[in-house]
Amino acid sequence: MIIGLDDTDSKESMCTTYLAAVLIEKLKEYGRINDYPLLIRLNPNIIYKTRGNAALAISLEPRRNKDIEAIKELVIETVRKMAVFSSENTNPGVVFIEDSSEKMKAELAEFSMRAVRDVLEIQEAVEILRRHNISHKGFKNGRGLIGALAASGFALCGLPDFTYELIAYREKERWGTLRDINEESVYAADAATRPDTWDTVDYENKRVVFAPHSPDPILFGIRGNSENAVRRAFSMIKSEPVEMYVVYKTNQNTDLHLIPAKINEVLDNRSYILKGKVKSAPKIIVGGHVIFELKDNSAVIECAAFEPTKGFRRIIRELRPQDDVTVFGSVKDKTLNIEKININDLNIHELRNPICCGKRMKSAGKGQGYRCEKCGSVKKEQALEILERKISQGFYEVPPCARRHLSKPLIRYQ
Ligand code: ATP
Repeated sequence: MIIGLDDTDSKESMCTTYLAAVLIEKLKEYGRINDYPLLIRLNPNIIYKTRGNAALAISLEPRRNKDIEAIKELVIETVRKMAVFSSENTNPGVVFIEDSSEKMKAELAEFSMRAVRDVLEIQEAVEILRRHNISHKGFKNGRGLIGALAASGFALCGLPDFTYELIAYREKERWGTLRDINEESVYAADAATRPDTWDTVDYENKRVVFAPHSPDPILFGIRGNSENAVRRAFSMIKSEPVEMYVVYKTNQNTDLHLIPAKINEVLDNRSYILKGKVKSAPKIIVGGHVIFELKDNSAVIECAAFEPTKGFRRIIRELRPQDDVTVFGSVKDKTLNIEKININDLNIHELRNPICCGKRMKSAGKGQGYRCEKCGSVKKEQALEILERKISQGFYEVPPCARRHLSKPLIRYQ
């Protein structure tokens, strides 16, 4: 039996992963939890999200078939008790998949992928639930059914790529207080387990980044490529008491949200991989954001490295017209927010006024070429010169402090 959950929290409190962690403990009385619980990140541009657009799925092997109704009741009651119903934006959804046909699997695989890449309507989830007679419970407007069904779909059909996150939760009486974590131990855990773990600390910006600052139950999360690696890092961290922890399998850091596309196919609130040439020189705008135009043979789009991407903006600032690049990121208000860039080819040529007598020649007037101020000689054309560039070809990414949950870090390419 697969149990999908979503949309139980608010900005002020709770977290759907915590509800899942509490539920896992209760469900163990009814059977065995198969595989790892799934922590699925859905489309990062959805306006309804509280924080990271997460949805959860738990796969349970019930000991006795006659417990199934009691299990459903337990899940629904736990959501009823723990979800933040007072928040207008909290619309929980719970889905129970008990059996499946090939047709249902195919539909769910497509729906789940679209929930990561596209913008869906509640009705689309409800239609699939009804068509395949999938047991479910939507609270309030039932928006959470989208995420709950999408996470269940991945549990049923599998993930094309995945990583792990160990999430440690705080004791309830500490929620909303400053987190007590020994930073030295975090740097040591990172050094001992990297590259098998990542995004625990941000060296360039000298910050511990694995702990949130919000008043939710999460103490910290360790991301990595195996259970063993995240557990090893966890064992080294000194902190306030951990109430409980769960190792999740997740689509975080896999780039599953990115759609390869041409610029004229781009829609707001989706995420893309776009290849093209820099059209205009980067500009720094108010707030310290760096913006440039990218063109391919279909259209032009603005690309931005926003202020929170810190040192990454230094790379973007160095781009020149005609540089050949591939950008990765989400599009909002017709601007692509760059998560990563591959500089395929640098334009190292520049037309400049010719040099004569050790100095640059001056324009002799419109259409009249260039004249040497010293000897008076004239040249018709500008000269093509080789330019020294401060950046080289290759991949560049935003620092860990600005990483989006779904973005695949370069450390995972090694
Ligand atoms: P947290 O990460 O703190 O658990 P959250 O950021 O996951 O919170 P939710 O409270 O789950 O935010 O709210 C997101 C809402 O958007 C859910 O109701 C979910 O079903 C819905 N949703 C998720 N993906 C899509 C999508 N692609 N299209 C439309 N709605 C979506």
